[in-house]
Amino acid sequence: MGMISRRDSIKAGLAALASTAVAGGVSREVSAQTASEALFTVQQTFIPIANSTQQFPVRRIYCIGRNYAAHAREMGSDPTRESPFFFQKPTDAIQYVAPGKVVEHPYPSLTKNYHYEVELVVALKSGGKDIPIERALEYVYGYALGLDMTRRDLQRLLGDQKKPWEIGKSFDRSAPIGPIYPVSAVGSFLKEPISLAVNGVIKQRATLDQMIWSVAEQISKLSEANELFAGDIIYSGTPENVGPVVKGDVILCKLDRLPDLSIKIT
Ligand code: MN
Repeated sequence: MGMISRRDSIKAGLAALASTAVAGGVSREVSAQTASEALFTVQQTFIPIANSTQQFPVRRIYCIGRNYAAHAREMGSDPTRESPFFFQKPTDAIQYVAPGKVVEHPYPSLTKNYHYEVELVVALKSGGKDIPIERALEYVYGYALGLDMTRRDLQRLLGDQKKPWEIGKSFDRSAPIGPIYPVSAVGSFLKEPISLAVNGVIKQRATLDQMIWSVAEQISKLSEANELFAGDIIYSGTPENVGPVVKGDVILCKLDRLPDLSIKIT
């Protein structure tokens, strides 16, 4: 492509962007407009909705860091002074784990210290900017039980080197998750016990009311940083006593009122 025609096509692209840049849905309108000309299909990630044939399309996976005081302390920070911080995993990091099954989860490359983090996951049915705390739960579609799997050695090494610790957290299948349970069927999750066992030995145990930042506060805070949309999910942080697994280990996660979630490291 010559210089001029490339510049022209960039201009045309920008014009198309501008014409669809209406509040609240730039990327989706652009993709809808150009879908028929797409070079290839990129697979959408879905999470099954419990007791339904419907699927929850995932837009973004947000995660909150250090959201239980004892876990913040074990990671070397002061839980009383820090604002919440967020990171993302790629959307296709989802690994669906059906209830009643032990799903094989491959030990990832590049790590020798692979950690579990059991978490409540919040799925949004709508979004917005600057959502007030007192209205935040109105945006929740449902809840799921999930694992924020972590290459802890890479996370720590890169952090110590003041480099982004992205690949410590964001990699293929780093987000195992069970089905989503709609609020309309199961209500909200606010103070339920959550736990994780490895090979039958309890490792993590807490209640959801021990979160430093509640689900409503997380949604509100996150909406100050990014406009939220239906399809966004939030991993809401893990209790203390994270730790390593090796090949052959079986992880069993429990959250009151939801079915267990289990994976085997292979
Ligand atoms: Mn986590």
